[in-house]
Amino acid sequence: MTARILEGKEFSARIKDEAREAVEQLRADGVIPGLTVIIVGENPASQVYVRNKHKTCEELGIRSEVVALPEDATKDQLLETIDRLNADQNVHGILVQLPLPTAIKAHEQEILERIDPLKDVDGFHPFNVGKLVTGSPTLVPCTPAGCIKMLDLAGIEIDGKRAVIIGRSNIVGKPMLHLLMARHATVTVCHSHTKPLGDVTREADILVAAMGKPKFVTAEMVKPGAVIVDVGINRIAPKKLVGDVDFESVKEIAGAITPVPGGVGLLTVAMLMQNVVRAARLQLGR
Ligand code: NDP
Repeated sequence: MTARILEGKEFSARIKDEAREAVEQLRADGVIPGLTVIIVGENPASQVYVRNKHKTCEELGIRSEVVALPEDATKDQLLETIDRLNADQNVHGILVQLPLPTAIKAHEQEILERIDPLKDVDGFHPFNVGKLVTGSPTLVPCTPAGCIKMLDLAGIEIDGKRAVIIGRSNIVGKPMLHLLMARHATVTVCHSHTKPLGDVTREADILVAAMGKPKFVTAEMVKPGAVIVDVGINRIAPKKLVGDVDFESVKEIAGAITPVPGGVGLLTVAMLMQNVVRAARLQLGR
């Protein structure tokens, strides 16, 4: 048996179509949704991500602005920039591209908390995290939200399933736990102290790998027929990206699997566009 390949391109196109329609409605009401991305320094991967976000905004009719601060920008400069954007009515979404340069990395939480929760399109502000945990999700982190949306669009049942997540980060693992639990899956979260990992992952009907370890999940760790969502993005050579899952071996045993590249990464940007629309509506009180 070879797994169904869940192509990010197909699902992201559908998510973007929904966003495009919502943008058109807002524009018809005289509102042009706007996203501002703040990038600090010159991390090449971050620059690629920011360019993709900008391009996708333009494609959908969202006003896009990139504020580039130098590598040696101070925490206060960044906070002042956020304050200015918080007060700007034309800016509906604010996103600080991570990772921050080493010199200000320690202030990451303070910086993210400075963003107006209604403009927090990454969904990382404690207000939005709290809304998610207490069952009234508002602005939800884009990558896990995109994974759930993809499962829905693919017609994959979540209710009553055993879901296992490898990784407990604030960006992927933890929000994924709450999203899957809200959809009535029985969820286990694994991390670097989970032993033996394979015993847990083999129980999964839905396995989400978000650990940042190239090709770590092998066929022996997967239950036959399981749905595999590979969030990992690992650069193993200048032009070679792989996921956290050993795609070639796992696709022979899984029921469905996302490829890397061309899987979850595309959904993340598409969901960001939906979050900008949602943020604009929230600010309009809709
Ligand atoms: P983090 O480094 O923040 O978290 C990694 C998690 O994996 C940690 O919880 C860690 O456990 C766990 N882990 C690491 N090694 C093992 C192991 N051997 N066994 C079990 N658990 C392990 O990563 P992120 O969540 O930010 O990102 C994860 C991956 O997803 C990365 O490859 C990243 O590039 C990718 N990513 C992709 C996105 C997309 O758009 N597709 C968006 C965001 C991330 P512990 O907590 O114990 O340290």
